[in-house]
Amino acid sequence: MGNHLFDLVRSRIPAPAAPFATLDDGRSYSYADMVAASARFANALVALGVKPGDRVAVQVEKSIEALMLYLGTVRAGAIFLPLNTAYTPAEIEYFLGDAEPAVFVCDPARAGALKPYADKAGAKLETLGVWRSPDVSAGTLSDKALAAATDFADVARGPDDLAAILYTSGTTGRSKGAMLSHDNLASNALALVDYWRFTKDDVLLHALPIFHTHGLFVATNVVLFSGSAMILLPKFDPDQVFKYLPQASCMMGVPTFYVRLLQDARLTKAATQHMRLFVSGSAPLLAETHREWRERTGHAILERYGMTETNMNTSNPYEGERVAGTVGFPLPGVTARVTDPETAKVLGADEIGMIEVKGPNVFKGYWRNPEKTAAEFRADGFFITGDLGKIDRAGYVHIVGRGKDLIITGGYNVYPKEVETEIDEMPGVVESAVIGCPHPDFGEGVTAVVVAKPGATITAASIAKTLEQRLAKFKLPKQVFIVDELPRNTMGKVQKNLLRETYKDIYA
Ligand code: ATP
Ligand code: MG
Repeated sequence: MGNHLFDLVRSRIPAPAAPFATLDDGRSYSYADMVAASARFANALVALGVKPGDRVAVQVEKSIEALMLYLGTVRAGAIFLPLNTAYTPAEIEYFLGDAEPAVFVCDPARAGALKPYADKAGAKLETLGVWRSPDVSAGTLSDKALAAATDFADVARGPDDLAAILYTSGTTGRSKGAMLSHDNLASNALALVDYWRFTKDDVLLHALPIFHTHGLFVATNVVLFSGSAMILLPKFDPDQVFKYLPQASCMMGVPTFYVRLLQDARLTKAATQHMRLFVSGSAPLLAETHREWRERTGHAILERYGMTETNMNTSNPYEGERVAGTVGFPLPGVTARVTDPETAKVLGADEIGMIEVKGPNVFKGYWRNPEKTAAEFRADGFFITGDLGKIDRAGYVHIVGRGKDLIITGGYNVYPKEVETEIDEMPGVVESAVIGCPHPDFGEGVTAVVVAKPGATITAASIAKTLEQRLAKFKLPKQVFIVDELPRNTMGKVQKNLLRETYKDIYA
Protein backbone atom coordinates (compact mmCIF):
# COMPACT_ATOMS: atom_id res chain seq x y z
CA MET A 1 0.00 0.00 0.00
CA GLY A 2 1.25 3.45 -0.84
CA ASN A 3 0.28 6.81 0.57
CA HIS A 4 -3.12 7.38 -1.03
CA LEU A 5 -3.16 11.18 -1.13
CA PHE A 6 0.48 11.86 -1.85
CA ASP A 7 0.76 9.09 -4.46
CA LEU A 8 -2.00 10.84 -6.36
CA VAL A 9 -0.21 14.17 -5.97
CA ARG A 10 2.98 12.63 -7.36
CA SER A 11 1.14 11.01 -10.24
CA ARG A 12 -0.18 14.40 -11.39
CA ILE A 13 3.18 16.22 -11.44
CA PRO A 14 3.58 17.47 -15.03
CA ALA A 15 7.41 17.64 -14.85
CA PRO A 16 9.86 18.05 -11.98
CA ALA A 17 10.82 21.53 -13.19
CA ALA A 18 7.21 22.64 -13.70
CA PRO A 19 6.29 25.64 -11.55
CA PHE A 20 4.32 24.94 -8.39
CA ALA A 21 4.35 28.21 -6.48
CA THR A 22 5.44 31.79 -7.01
CA LEU A 23 5.86 33.76 -3.79
CA ASP A 24 5.62 37.47 -3.17
CA ASP A 25 9.11 37.50 -1.60
CA GLY A 26 10.67 36.68 -4.96
CA ARG A 27 11.17 32.96 -4.36
CA SER A 28 9.53 30.23 -6.38
CA TYR A 29 8.96 26.48 -5.99
CA SER A 30 8.99 23.91 -8.75
CA TYR A 31 7.21 20.60 -8.30
CA ALA A 32 10.59 19.00 -7.55
CA ASP A 33 11.08 21.63 -4.82
CA MET A 34 7.62 20.79 -3.45
CA VAL A 35 8.53 17.09 -3.21
CA ALA A 36 11.90 17.84 -1.61
CA ALA A 37 10.63 20.42 0.88
CA SER A 38 7.68 18.29 2.00
CA ALA A 39 10.14 15.39 2.46
CA ARG A 40 12.26 17.61 4.73
CA PHE A 41 9.24 18.34 6.91
CA ALA A 42 8.22 14.67 6.94
CA ASN A 43 11.75 13.74 8.08
CA ALA A 44 11.72 16.45 10.74
CA LEU A 45 8.38 15.23 12.09
CA VAL A 46 9.49 11.61 12.21
CA ALA A 47 12.67 12.67 14.04
CA LEU A 48 10.40 14.38 16.59
CA GLY A 49 8.73 11.04 17.19
CA VAL A 50 5.57 11.63 15.14
CA LYS A 51 3.94 8.32 14.33
CA PRO A 52 1.17 7.35 11.89
CA GLY A 53 -2.17 8.59 13.22
CA ASP A 54 -0.59 11.26 15.44
CA ARG A 55 -1.97 14.76 15.16
CA VAL A 56 0.27 17.64 14.14
CA ALA A 57 -1.46 20.82 15.27
CA VAL A 58 -0.41 24.01 13.54
CA GLN A 59 -1.15 27.67 14.18
CA VAL A 60 1.16 29.61 11.91
CA GLU A 61 1.05 32.49 9.46
CA LYS A 62 0.36 31.60 5.87
CA SER A 63 3.51 30.56 4.03
CA ILE A 64 4.77 28.04 1.51
CA GLU A 65 6.55 26.32 4.41
CA ALA A 66 3.20 25.85 6.15
CA LEU A 67 1.88 24.15 3.01
CA MET A 68 5.01 21.96 2.93
CA LEU A 69 4.30 21.06 6.55
CA TYR A 70 0.79 19.99 5.52
CA LEU A 71 2.19 17.73 2.81
CA GLY A 72 5.03 16.50 5.03
CA THR A 73 2.51 15.55 7.70
CA VAL A 74 0.46 13.59 5.17
CA ARG A 75 3.58 11.86 3.85
CA ALA A 76 4.58 10.93 7.41
CA GLY A 77 1.20 9.24 7.82
CA ALA A 78 0.14 11.73 10.47
CA ILE A 79 -2.93 13.95 10.69
CA PHE A 80 -2.65 17.64 9.82
CA LEU A 81 -4.61 19.87 12.17
CA PRO A 82 -4.49 23.56 11.24
CA LEU A 83 -5.84 26.21 13.57
CA ASN A 84 -7.14 29.68 12.80
CA THR A 85 -4.40 32.30 13.30
CA ALA A 86 -6.93 34.49 15.12
CA TYR A 87 -7.42 32.01 17.96
CA THR A 88 -6.33 33.35 21.34
CA PRO A 89 -4.14 31.35 23.73
CA ALA A 90 -7.26 30.43 25.73
CA GLU A 91 -8.87 29.03 22.59
CA ILE A 92 -5.67 27.20 21.68
CA GLU A 93 -5.76 25.59 25.09
CA TYR A 94 -9.16 24.11 24.24
CA PHE A 95 -8.09 22.85 20.81
CA LEU A 96 -4.86 21.28 22.07
CA GLY A 97 -6.71 19.61 24.92
CA ASP A 98 -9.28 18.27 22.46
CA ALA A 99 -6.84 17.15 19.77
CA GLU A 100 -3.95 15.91 21.94
CA PRO A 101 -1.39 16.40 19.18
CA ALA A 102 2.09 14.89 19.31
CA VAL A 103 3.53 18.16 18.06
CA PHE A 104 2.18 21.70 18.14
CA VAL A 105 3.74 24.15 15.70
CA CYS A 106 3.20 27.84 16.36
CA ASP A 107 4.53 31.20 15.33
CA PRO A 108 7.90 31.99 17.01
CA ALA A 109 6.40 35.16 18.51
CA ARG A 110 3.74 33.16 20.36
CA ALA A 111 5.89 30.29 21.61
CA GLY A 112 6.29 31.76 25.11
CA ALA A 113 2.56 32.26 25.60
CA LEU A 114 1.58 28.89 24.19
CA LYS A 115 4.25 26.62 25.67
CA PRO A 116 2.28 25.93 28.87
CA TYR A 117 -0.70 24.71 26.86
CA ALA A 118 1.45 22.52 24.64
CA ASP A 119 3.00 21.03 27.78
CA LYS A 120 -0.39 20.48 29.36
CA ALA A 121 -1.64 18.64 26.27
CA GLY A 122 1.54 16.54 26.10
CA ALA A 123 2.60 18.06 22.77
CA LYS A 124 6.13 18.99 21.74
CA LEU A 125 6.29 22.69 20.86
CA GLU A 126 7.96 23.72 17.60
CA THR A 127 7.95 27.03 15.78
CA LEU A 128 7.55 28.04 12.17
CA GLY A 129 7.55 31.66 11.10
CA VAL A 130 7.64 33.56 7.87
CA TRP A 131 10.82 33.16 5.81
CA ARG A 132 12.96 36.32 5.67
CA SER A 133 16.30 35.30 4.19
CA PRO A 134 18.52 32.23 4.00
CA ASP A 135 20.53 33.49 6.99
CA VAL A 136 17.66 34.12 9.38
CA SER A 137 16.04 31.26 11.23
CA ALA A 138 12.32 31.03 10.58
CA GLY A 139 11.78 28.82 13.62
CA THR A 140 12.81 25.58 15.25
CA LEU A 141 10.87 23.33 12.90
CA SER A 142 12.07 25.29 9.92
CA ASP A 143 15.69 24.72 11.07
CA LYS A 144 15.07 21.02 11.57
CA ALA A 145 13.50 20.74 8.13
CA LEU A 146 16.39 22.57 6.50
CA ALA A 147 18.84 20.17 8.11
CA ALA A 148 16.81 17.10 7.09
CA ALA A 149 17.13 14.96 3.97
CA THR A 150 15.18 15.77 0.82
CA ASP A 151 14.04 12.22 0.25
CA PHE A 152 11.51 10.37 2.34
CA ALA A 153 9.82 7.01 2.03
CA ASP A 154 6.14 7.97 2.32
CA VAL A 155 4.34 6.15 5.12
CA ALA A 156 1.66 3.78 3.84
CA ARG A 157 -1.86 5.16 4.27
CA GLY A 158 -5.06 3.88 2.73
CA PRO A 159 -8.02 5.83 1.35
CA ASP A 160 -9.89 5.72 4.68
CA ASP A 161 -7.00 6.74 6.90
CA LEU A 162 -7.20 10.25 8.24
CA ALA A 163 -5.19 12.99 6.53
CA ALA A 164 -6.52 15.96 8.46
CA ILE A 165 -8.72 17.15 11.24
CA LEU A 166 -10.16 20.52 10.41
CA TYR A 167 -12.17 22.52 12.88
CA THR A 168 -15.36 24.15 11.60
CA SER A 169 -15.54 27.93 11.58
CA GLY A 170 -17.58 28.18 14.76
CA THR A 171 -20.27 30.30 13.10
CA THR A 172 -23.13 28.53 14.85
CA GLY A 173 -21.44 27.37 18.05
CA ARG A 174 -18.24 25.83 19.29
CA SER A 175 -15.97 24.61 16.48
CA LYS A 176 -16.07 20.87 15.86
CA GLY A 177 -13.13 18.78 14.62
CA ALA A 178 -14.05 17.15 11.31
CA MET A 179 -12.05 13.99 10.54
CA LEU A 180 -11.11 13.95 6.85
CA SER A 181 -9.63 10.91 5.19
CA HIS A 182 -7.09 10.72 2.39
CA ASP A 183 -9.87 9.87 -0.03
CA ASN A 184 -12.23 12.58 1.24
CA LEU A 185 -9.59 15.06 0.09
CA ALA A 186 -8.40 13.23 -3.01
CA SER A 187 -11.83 12.43 -4.43
CA ASN A 188 -12.99 16.01 -4.00
CA ALA A 189 -9.83 17.48 -5.55
CA LEU A 190 -10.17 15.18 -8.56
CA ALA A 191 -13.84 16.08 -8.99
CA LEU A 192 -13.12 19.81 -8.82
CA VAL A 193 -10.18 19.68 -11.24
CA ASP A 194 -12.48 18.06 -13.75
CA TYR A 195 -15.53 20.17 -13.08
CA TRP A 196 -13.64 23.45 -13.23
CA ARG A 197 -11.37 22.33 -16.11
CA PHE A 198 -8.06 22.89 -14.34
CA THR A 199 -4.97 21.95 -16.35
CA LYS A 200 -1.23 22.24 -15.86
CA ASP A 201 -1.35 25.56 -17.70
CA ASP A 202 -3.44 27.25 -15.02
CA VAL A 203 -2.06 29.71 -12.49
CA LEU A 204 -4.21 30.22 -9.42
CA LEU A 205 -4.10 33.45 -7.47
CA HIS A 206 -4.14 32.18 -3.88
CA ALA A 207 -5.05 34.89 -1.36
CA LEU A 208 -7.13 32.77 1.02
CA PRO A 209 -6.07 31.68 4.51
CA ILE A 210 -4.76 28.12 4.71
CA PHE A 211 -6.29 27.08 8.04
CA HIS A 212 -9.68 26.64 6.36
CA THR A 213 -10.96 24.12 3.82
CA HIS A 214 -11.25 26.76 1.08
CA GLY A 215 -7.60 27.83 0.94
CA LEU A 216 -6.05 24.62 2.20
CA PHE A 217 -7.96 21.94 0.35
CA VAL A 218 -10.00 23.48 -2.45
CA ALA A 219 -7.31 25.87 -3.65
CA THR A 220 -4.12 23.95 -2.84
CA ASN A 221 -5.33 20.47 -3.70
CA VAL A 222 -6.86 21.60 -6.98
CA VAL A 223 -3.48 23.05 -7.94
CA LEU A 224 -1.66 19.87 -6.87
CA PHE A 225 -4.12 17.54 -8.57
CA SER A 226 -4.00 19.44 -11.85
CA GLY A 227 -0.26 20.04 -11.86
CA SER A 228 -0.93 23.74 -12.21
CA ALA A 229 0.81 26.61 -10.47
CA MET A 230 -0.20 29.11 -7.83
CA ILE A 231 0.76 32.59 -6.78
CA LEU A 232 0.77 32.31 -3.02
CA LEU A 233 -0.01 35.63 -1.34
CA PRO A 234 0.20 36.03 2.44
CA LYS A 235 -3.31 37.45 2.60
CA PHE A 236 -5.98 39.21 0.59
CA ASP A 237 -4.76 42.68 -0.31
CA PRO A 238 -6.24 44.43 -3.38
CA ASP A 239 -2.85 45.98 -4.26
CA GLN A 240 -1.27 42.55 -4.36
CA VAL A 241 -4.21 41.09 -6.26
CA PHE A 242 -3.92 43.72 -8.99
CA LYS A 243 -0.14 43.32 -9.08
CA TYR A 244 -0.29 39.57 -9.66
CA LEU A 245 -3.55 39.26 -11.60
CA PRO A 246 -1.81 39.62 -14.98
CA GLN A 247 0.15 36.40 -14.25
CA ALA A 248 -2.89 34.40 -13.11
CA SER A 249 -5.62 32.52 -14.94
CA CYS A 250 -7.97 31.75 -12.01
CA MET A 251 -8.85 33.12 -8.62
CA MET A 252 -10.77 31.64 -5.70
CA GLY A 253 -12.25 33.91 -3.10
CA VAL A 254 -14.82 34.46 -0.42
CA PRO A 255 -17.59 36.92 -1.31
CA THR A 256 -15.89 39.79 0.55
CA PHE A 257 -12.93 39.56 -1.87
CA TYR A 258 -15.27 40.25 -4.76
CA VAL A 259 -17.11 43.03 -2.93
CA ARG A 260 -13.82 44.74 -2.11
CA LEU A 261 -12.42 44.38 -5.62
CA LEU A 262 -15.61 45.91 -7.02
CA GLN A 263 -14.92 49.01 -4.92
CA ASP A 264 -11.57 49.39 -6.68
CA ALA A 265 -11.24 51.44 -9.86
CA ARG A 266 -8.54 49.07 -11.09
CA LEU A 267 -11.14 46.36 -11.64
CA THR A 268 -11.83 46.63 -15.36
CA LYS A 269 -12.54 44.39 -18.32
CA ALA A 270 -8.97 44.92 -19.50
CA ALA A 271 -7.52 43.84 -16.14
CA THR A 272 -9.48 40.58 -16.12
CA GLN A 273 -9.81 39.76 -19.80
CA HIS A 274 -7.14 37.08 -19.72
CA MET A 275 -8.70 35.31 -16.71
CA ARG A 276 -10.37 31.95 -17.16
CA LEU A 277 -12.28 31.56 -13.91
CA PHE A 278 -13.38 33.31 -10.73
CA VAL A 279 -14.76 31.02 -8.00
CA SER A 280 -16.64 32.11 -4.89
CA GLY A 281 -17.68 30.23 -1.78
CA SER A 282 -17.64 29.86 2.03
CA ALA A 283 -20.50 32.33 2.40
CA PRO A 284 -23.38 33.45 0.19
CA LEU A 285 -22.46 35.69 -2.72
CA LEU A 286 -25.02 38.45 -3.11
CA ALA A 287 -26.83 38.22 -6.43
CA GLU A 288 -26.00 41.89 -6.87
CA THR A 289 -22.27 41.21 -6.51
CA HIS A 290 -22.59 38.54 -9.19
CA ARG A 291 -24.39 40.97 -11.51
CA GLU A 292 -22.00 43.86 -10.89
CA TRP A 293 -18.98 41.64 -11.43
CA ARG A 294 -20.37 40.46 -14.72
CA GLU A 295 -21.07 44.01 -15.85
CA ARG A 296 -17.61 45.27 -14.89
CA THR A 297 -15.51 42.34 -16.06
CA GLY A 298 -17.61 40.25 -18.39
CA HIS A 299 -17.00 37.21 -16.12
CA ALA A 300 -19.75 35.27 -14.37
CA ILE A 301 -18.41 34.30 -10.93
CA LEU A 302 -18.77 30.57 -10.39
CA GLU A 303 -20.33 30.00 -6.97
CA ARG A 304 -19.98 26.69 -5.19
CA TYR A 305 -21.04 25.31 -1.82
CA GLY A 306 -19.07 23.30 0.66
CA MET A 307 -18.33 22.83 4.32
CA THR A 308 -15.46 21.74 6.50
CA GLU A 309 -17.14 18.37 7.01
CA THR A 310 -17.75 17.60 3.35
CA ASN A 311 -15.27 19.51 1.24
CA MET A 312 -17.22 20.77 -1.78
CA ASN A 313 -20.76 19.53 -2.42
CA THR A 314 -22.19 21.53 -5.28
CA SER A 315 -20.98 23.91 -7.94
CA ASN A 316 -22.39 26.05 -10.66
CA PRO A 317 -21.42 24.66 -14.05
CA TYR A 318 -18.27 25.57 -15.93
CA GLU A 319 -20.20 25.59 -19.16
CA GLY A 320 -23.88 26.33 -18.90
CA GLU A 321 -25.50 28.99 -16.83
CA ARG A 322 -23.97 30.13 -13.54
CA VAL A 323 -27.11 31.26 -11.82
CA ALA A 324 -26.67 34.08 -9.31
CA GLY A 325 -28.02 33.24 -5.87
CA THR A 326 -27.67 29.48 -6.41
CA VAL A 327 -24.81 27.10 -5.65
CA GLY A 328 -25.31 24.95 -8.71
CA PHE A 329 -25.46 21.17 -9.07
CA PRO A 330 -24.15 18.34 -6.88
CA LEU A 331 -20.60 17.51 -8.00
CA PRO A 332 -20.09 14.21 -9.80
CA GLY A 333 -20.14 11.46 -7.16
CA VAL A 334 -22.07 13.61 -4.67
CA THR A 335 -25.79 13.11 -4.07
CA ALA A 336 -27.82 15.92 -2.55
CA ARG A 337 -31.40 15.83 -1.35
CA VAL A 338 -33.74 18.05 0.62
CA THR A 339 -35.73 16.62 3.50
CA ASP A 340 -38.40 17.72 5.91
CA PRO A 341 -36.45 18.70 9.04
CA GLU A 342 -39.07 17.11 11.31
CA THR A 343 -40.06 13.91 9.50
CA ALA A 344 -36.91 13.37 7.37
CA LYS A 345 -39.19 12.72 4.39
CA VAL A 346 -37.49 13.52 1.09
CA LEU A 347 -39.06 16.62 -0.45
CA GLY A 348 -39.74 17.42 -4.09
CA ALA A 349 -38.41 20.13 -6.38
CA ASP A 350 -38.66 23.69 -5.06
CA GLU A 351 -39.66 22.56 -1.56
CA ILE A 352 -37.55 24.09 1.21
CA GLY A 353 -36.03 21.79 3.79
CA MET A 354 -32.77 20.43 5.16
CA ILE A 355 -29.97 19.87 2.65
CA GLU A 356 -28.41 16.42 3.05
CA VAL A 357 -25.42 15.07 1.13
CA LYS A 358 -23.70 11.75 0.55
CA GLY A 359 -20.54 10.88 -1.31
CA PRO A 360 -16.83 10.11 -1.07
CA ASN A 361 -16.31 13.72 0.04
CA VAL A 362 -18.24 13.33 3.30
CA PHE A 363 -16.10 13.18 6.43
CA LYS A 364 -15.57 10.30 8.84
CA GLY A 365 -17.22 11.97 11.81
CA TYR A 366 -16.48 14.54 14.49
CA TRP A 367 -13.27 13.99 16.40
CA ARG A 368 -13.94 12.36 19.76
CA ASN A 369 -17.63 13.12 19.47
CA PRO A 370 -19.54 9.97 18.47
CA GLU A 371 -22.85 11.35 19.77
CA LYS A 372 -22.69 14.42 17.56
CA THR A 373 -21.53 12.29 14.64
CA ALA A 374 -24.47 9.89 15.11
CA ALA A 375 -26.90 12.80 15.37
CA GLU A 376 -25.79 14.35 12.08
CA PHE A 377 -26.04 11.25 9.89
CA ARG A 378 -29.15 9.46 8.60
CA ALA A 379 -29.31 5.67 8.69
CA ASP A 380 -28.74 5.56 4.91
CA GLY A 381 -25.47 7.47 5.20
CA PHE A 382 -26.63 10.98 4.28
CA PHE A 383 -25.00 13.81 6.23
CA ILE A 384 -27.35 16.45 7.58
CA THR A 385 -25.61 19.69 6.59
CA GLY A 386 -27.55 22.04 8.85
CA ASP A 387 -28.22 24.27 5.82
CA LEU A 388 -31.76 24.86 4.63
CA GLY A 389 -32.45 25.07 0.95
CA LYS A 390 -34.20 23.69 -2.06
CA ILE A 391 -33.39 22.08 -5.38
CA ASP A 392 -35.20 23.74 -8.25
CA ARG A 393 -36.68 22.02 -11.29
CA ALA A 394 -33.52 22.59 -13.29
CA GLY A 395 -31.50 20.88 -10.54
CA TYR A 396 -29.80 23.97 -9.10
CA VAL A 397 -29.37 23.94 -5.33
CA HIS A 398 -30.43 27.11 -3.49
CA ILE A 399 -29.41 27.81 0.10
CA VAL A 400 -31.89 29.84 2.12
CA GLY A 401 -29.95 29.93 5.37
CA ARG A 402 -28.84 27.76 8.21
CA GLY A 403 -31.24 25.62 10.20
CA LYS A 404 -30.04 27.40 13.30
CA ASP A 405 -30.94 30.78 11.76
CA LEU A 406 -34.49 29.78 10.84
CA ILE A 407 -36.92 32.12 12.56
CA ILE A 408 -40.07 30.70 14.10
CA THR A 409 -42.46 33.52 14.85
CA GLY A 410 -45.98 32.91 16.10
CA GLY A 411 -45.66 29.33 14.86
CA TYR A 412 -44.68 30.34 11.33
CA ASN A 413 -41.32 29.58 9.70
CA VAL A 414 -39.53 32.57 8.24
CA TYR A 415 -36.47 31.93 6.07
CA PRO A 416 -34.09 34.86 6.60
CA LYS A 417 -32.82 34.76 3.02
CA GLU A 418 -36.27 35.53 1.63
CA VAL A 419 -36.55 38.71 3.67
CA GLU A 420 -32.88 39.61 3.10
CA THR A 421 -33.29 39.29 -0.67
CA GLU A 422 -36.20 41.73 -0.62
CA ILE A 423 -34.25 44.23 1.46
CA ASP A 424 -31.04 43.85 -0.56
CA GLU A 425 -32.89 44.75 -3.73
CA MET A 426 -33.98 48.13 -2.38
CA PRO A 427 -32.01 51.10 -3.71
CA GLY A 428 -29.58 52.41 -1.13
CA VAL A 429 -29.05 49.05 0.57
CA VAL A 430 -25.67 47.30 0.57
CA GLU A 431 -26.73 44.16 2.41
CA SER A 432 -28.77 42.90 5.32
CA ALA A 433 -29.05 40.19 7.93
CA VAL A 434 -32.42 39.02 9.20
CA ILE A 435 -32.47 37.32 12.57
CA GLY A 436 -34.93 36.12 15.17
CA CYS A 437 -34.83 37.77 18.59
CA PRO A 438 -36.69 36.53 21.66
CA HIS A 439 -40.22 37.94 21.71
CA PRO A 440 -42.71 37.53 24.57
CA ASP A 441 -45.74 36.97 22.29
CA PHE A 442 -44.30 35.47 19.12
CA GLY A 443 -41.45 33.37 20.49
CA GLU A 444 -39.13 35.12 18.07
CA GLY A 445 -39.53 38.50 16.43
CA VAL A 446 -38.24 38.96 12.89
CA THR A 447 -35.52 41.60 13.05
CA ALA A 448 -33.62 43.18 10.17
CA VAL A 449 -30.14 44.63 10.43
CA VAL A 450 -29.35 46.65 7.31
CA VAL A 451 -26.21 48.25 5.91
CA ALA A 452 -27.05 51.34 3.85
CA LYS A 453 -24.94 52.75 1.03
CA PRO A 454 -23.01 55.89 2.01
CA GLY A 455 -25.22 58.91 1.52
CA ALA A 456 -28.37 56.84 0.99
CA THR A 457 -31.57 58.35 2.32
CA ILE A 458 -33.07 55.02 3.25
CA THR A 459 -34.49 54.70 6.80
CA ALA A 460 -35.76 51.93 9.00
CA ALA A 461 -39.29 53.21 8.39
CA SER A 462 -38.92 53.31 4.61
CA ILE A 463 -37.57 49.76 4.56
CA ALA A 464 -40.43 48.51 6.72
CA LYS A 465 -42.95 50.28 4.49
CA THR A 466 -41.57 48.81 1.26
CA LEU A 467 -41.54 45.32 2.75
CA GLU A 468 -45.22 45.62 3.69
CA GLN A 469 -46.10 45.60 0.01
CA ARG A 470 -43.87 42.64 -0.74
CA LEU A 471 -44.14 40.07 2.04
CA ALA A 472 -46.80 38.33 4.10
CA LYS A 473 -47.40 40.03 7.43
CA PHE A 474 -45.80 37.30 9.56
CA LYS A 475 -42.51 37.69 7.65
CA LEU A 476 -42.25 41.43 8.23
CA PRO A 477 -39.47 42.61 10.54
CA LYS A 478 -40.86 43.97 13.78
CA GLN A 479 -37.81 46.18 14.00
CA VAL A 480 -35.25 47.37 11.45
CA PHE A 481 -31.82 48.65 12.40
CA ILE A 482 -29.44 50.54 10.12
CA VAL A 483 -25.78 49.82 10.85
CA ASP A 484 -22.40 50.60 9.30
CA GLU A 485 -21.38 47.00 8.77
CA LEU A 486 -22.28 43.43 9.67
CA PRO A 487 -19.98 41.44 11.98
CA ARG A 488 -17.98 38.95 9.93
CA ASN A 489 -15.39 36.31 10.75
CA THR A 490 -12.15 35.76 8.84
CA MET A 491 -13.94 33.74 6.15
CA GLY A 492 -16.35 36.59 5.48
CA LYS A 493 -19.25 34.81 7.16
CA VAL A 494 -21.85 37.03 8.82
CA GLN A 495 -21.91 36.17 12.51
CA LYS A 496 -25.61 36.07 13.21
CA ASN A 497 -24.98 34.70 16.70
CA LEU A 498 -23.29 38.03 17.53
CA LEU A 499 -26.21 39.97 16.07
CA ARG A 500 -28.68 37.89 18.10
CA GLU A 501 -26.66 38.69 21.19
CA THR A 502 -26.61 42.42 20.39
CA TYR A 503 -30.36 42.60 19.85
CA LYS A 504 -31.48 40.00 22.36
CA ASP A 505 -33.44 42.40 24.60
CA ILE A 506 -35.20 44.55 22.02
CA TYR A 507 -38.60 42.91 22.51
CA ALA A 508 -38.21 42.29 26.24
P1 ATP B 1 -19.82 25.91 12.35
O1 ATP B 1 -20.19 24.64 11.70
O2 ATP B 1 -18.73 25.74 13.35
O3 ATP B 1 -20.98 26.68 12.88
P2 ATP B 1 -19.40 26.97 9.68
O4 ATP B 1 -20.54 26.10 9.29
O5 ATP B 1 -19.47 28.40 9.26
O6 ATP B 1 -19.15 26.90 11.26
P3 ATP B 1 -17.59 26.04 7.66
O7 ATP B 1 -17.50 24.58 7.55
O8 ATP B 1 -16.39 26.85 7.42
O9 ATP B 1 -18.05 26.38 9.14
O10 ATP B 1 -18.68 26.61 6.71
C1 ATP B 1 -19.64 25.81 6.05
C2 ATP B 1 -20.90 26.60 5.87
O11 ATP B 1 -20.67 27.77 5.07
C3 ATP B 1 -21.98 25.86 5.14
O12 ATP B 1 -22.67 24.96 5.98
C4 ATP B 1 -22.85 27.00 4.62
O13 ATP B 1 -23.75 27.45 5.63
C5 ATP B 1 -21.83 28.09 4.35
N1 ATP B 1 -21.51 28.19 2.93
C6 ATP B 1 -20.44 27.71 2.26
N2 ATP B 1 -20.50 28.03 0.95
C7 ATP B 1 -21.64 28.72 0.79
C8 ATP B 1 -22.29 29.35 -0.32
N3 ATP B 1 -21.75 29.34 -1.54
N4 ATP B 1 -23.48 29.97 -0.11
C9 ATP B 1 -24.02 30.00 1.12
N5 ATP B 1 -23.48 29.44 2.20
C10 ATP B 1 -22.29 28.82 2.04
MG1 MG C 1 -21.05 24.21 9.93
